[in-house]
Amino acid sequence: MQPSIRPYLRTGPGYVYAARTTAADKKGEEGRIARLASNENPFPPSTAAVSAGVAALATVNRYPDNRMTDLIEALKRFHGDHTFVVGNGMDGIIEAVLRCFVEKGDRVVVSTPTFSFYGIAAAGQGAIVENVQRKDDFTVDIPAFTRACTGARVAFLCTPNNPTGTMTTPAEVREVLDGIGDCMLFLDNAYVDFAGDDYRPLMDDYQNLIVGRTMSKIFGLAGLRVGYAFIPAWLEPFYQKAATPFSGISSVSAAAAVAALADHEHQERTLRHVLEWREQVRSAVRFPVLPSEANFLMIDVAPHTADEVVATLAGHGVLIRSCRSFPGLGDHYVRVSIGDAWENERFIEEINRL
Ligand SMILES: *Cc1c(COP(=O)(O)O)cnc(C)c1O
Repeated sequence: MQPSIRPYLRTGPGYVYAARTTAADKKGEEGRIARLASNENPFPPSTAAVSAGVAALATVNRYPDNRMTDLIEALKRFHGDHTFVVGNGMDGIIEAVLRCFVEKGDRVVVSTPTFSFYGIAAAGQGAIVENVQRKDDFTVDIPAFTRACTGARVAFLCTPNNPTGTMTTPAEVREVLDGIGDCMLFLDNAYVDFAGDDYRPLMDDYQNLIVGRTMSKIFGLAGLRVGYAFIPAWLEPFYQKAATPFSGISSVSAAAAVAALADHEHQERTLRHVLEWREQVRSAVRFPVLPSEANFLMIDVAPHTADEVVATLAGHGVLIRSCRSFPGLGDHYVRVSIGDAWENERFIEEINRL
């Protein structure tokens, strides 16, 4: 007899990954594939991070430090004295946070269209997921979102938002926090390293705020799966009980992350490159491009469909992301990451040829 699977896994696609290279293998200029579908850092990681990871491999017969002391200390040197937790990507932290707060049947609110994993992880915890639609310009309808959060257990708000690039200002986030009672707000700051606003000061004033960050983007460590979050101090002991042992982070990932945090030159190089090319790509593309403060742009390709455009570009060795799988976006938006210079140039050439 085959044991029965939980209903939430019988419907929907689950997490939809960006197109992989297979569709476009051996295409493109000189056989090179422009990988602009996953908002990764186009540059190799910091050489200091690579060396630290390699050195840590020699001691992997031992379990990692369960307190992740070196990484937590490195985060404090980088950001100042806050309470941090680390996880197997920010995704791992999202799961542990939901385990802290959500019982079956509790409400979890998501400001949408956005990153799909919030809803998937919340459903996995037995939550009833309520999506609150953003406005036509993809800014958050603050009163509607705040109303929905009231009485909910956890709410997710992404700024800069994936895939739209939209910012919600710290003042607007304060407005939400002031209006949602004891609902926990998870503010996803995966792309904040590329944006102008700083949300860290909010941690001083609210006991119901978690700010999630990742080392997958500006730090270039996507393959190592390192995320971290600012959490209120009262939550820390409970979070540790809910989390995967050893925070779900390998000693190799932790060592590399410590070195990456200290390599400011590497971070600044990526930031300069992204800011410069974000503007260049935006102004060169002949379709409407949404304002973005992240390392990607969302583009309205109507009258083409997103899937058609993604397939056409993949055929020419340029991988971008269709936004059709983001609920509420329709099928005429694509998302393109800011890549290496040649990748951006290839993208501009191909999209303008449509
Ligand atoms: C990339 C990303 C993350 C972080 O993912 P990791 O699990 O840390 O790799 C979180 N939220 C959003 C919106 C993202 O795009």
